[in-house]
Amino acid sequence: MESIHELHLELIDVFKNDGFNGYEIVFSVQGQRFCFLTGNTKHPFPLNVKHQFAEKDICRLCGKNIYAAPIGHQLCAYFQRNMRELLQYFLTTHKDRF
Ligand SMILES: [Zn+2]
Repeated sequence: MESIHELHLELIDVFKNDGFNGYEIVFSVQGQRFCFLTGNTKHPFPLNVKHQFAEKDICRLCGKNIYAAPIGHQLCAYFQRNMRELLQYFLTTHKDRF
């Protein structure tokens, strides 16, 4: 499997969630959308990455059959394995958003 840096990750939005003190990072890879939750806005740590697909599709990264959101709000096994690298990636490439 390709590393995070070889994927064409597109950052869509970063929301600060004061409810649980963390960030919600929405991004897409080749048109497939994901939602990454992190805890702690000062020193973010990764919590989970879920699919957020507009229509039923097979995730190109974990191979799972995913239903449209919100029903298909399931964890992505690929990003779950690479959460730390993913967070580091966004913190480095989009410093201004955090
Ligand atoms: Zn997936």
